[in-house]
Amino acid sequence: MLADRSRLHIALQKSGRLSESSQQLLRDAGFRIQTTKNSLTAGVENFPAELMFVRDDDIPTFVSDGVCEFGIVGQNVLEEFALGQAEPKYEVLAELGFGRCSLKLAAPESLTYEGPQSLAGTRIATSYPRLTERFLRERGVDATVVKMNGAVELAPRLQIANFVCDLVSTGATLEANGLRPVETVLESQAVLLRTRKPLDEARSQIAAGLLSRVDGVLATKESKYIMLNATEDSLEQITAILPGAEAPTILPLHGRPGHFAVHAVCQESIFWETLQKLKSAGASAILVVPIEKMMM
Ligand code: ATP
Ligand code: ZN
Repeated sequence: MLADRSRLHIALQKSGRLSESSQQLLRDAGFRIQTTKNSLTAGVENFPAELMFVRDDDIPTFVSDGVCEFGIVGQNVLEEFALGQAEPKYEVLAELGFGRCSLKLAAPESLTYEGPQSLAGTRIATSYPRLTERFLRERGVDATVVKMNGAVELAPRLQIANFVCDLVSTGATLEANGLRPVETVLESQAVLLRTRKPLDEARSQIAAGLLSRVDGVLATKESKYIMLNATEDSLEQITAILPGAEAPTILPLHGRPGHFAVHAVCQESIFWETLQKLKSAGASAILVVPIEKMMM
């Protein structure tokens, strides 16, 4: 691949569970992704970046080698990769909140499981041999790990293995195959990666722009803007209740001496309970509104 060195290259899963959310994150960050006939890459109309559509398993390698400066991949794939490397040549910049799943050890319904010692001397089928081996090693259990590239949940029925160690989100696939989860090996979600290979000045600036936009999207997902009115004596208590708010703006209300408007960005969810508490503390006319864009 002869990459254009005046642009950033972002590795994304070509087709699969992370594809849509990865592209949506970039669209939310304001990138207009060009649709091209060539399905392996896509340009971005309003940003010097090129998207590379690859298999998720290749993303850690591409980012480590610096072929792509950025990438989006599941922690499951990344950690499995990392266990095979002497030292990471990438940096995890952010957890993205999608692609959530867990890597679980599961047993056939018929098998009794009484903790990790039940795994001793058994065979475990998995696509994540290094993570599975680490789990066993940390618990001092000796078992045989059988690497399979797919259809892991069939292994017990095919008598290839006693247990499986596989990705689960709802557990429906396990259940459909007569398996039940017994241990969680890893909780996973998609992350944004950046190569540790140094970037030249121009591209580090482009990278900083990308990051600040992605940070903005991630921050607005949770954040809300809250506005309320309060009397002077309740201000201290009210600002202490506001979840994840830094330095709220406090403005005197015109024509109502002793009354103030409080405006704040809350970095955490605001529940009805919080509103109730604010009201009890003396707040009135409370408004909570979503934030569309934010740049800190
Ligand atoms: P590729 O062709 O890119 O290698 P794949 O078959 O390995 O695709 P997908 O099944 O699309 O990958 O899953 C991609 C990632 O989505 C997983 O590595 C994981 O991080 C995440 N994911 C979220 N939920 C699940 C789930 N229920 N099962 C598997 N992966 C999940
Ligand atoms: Zn894959």
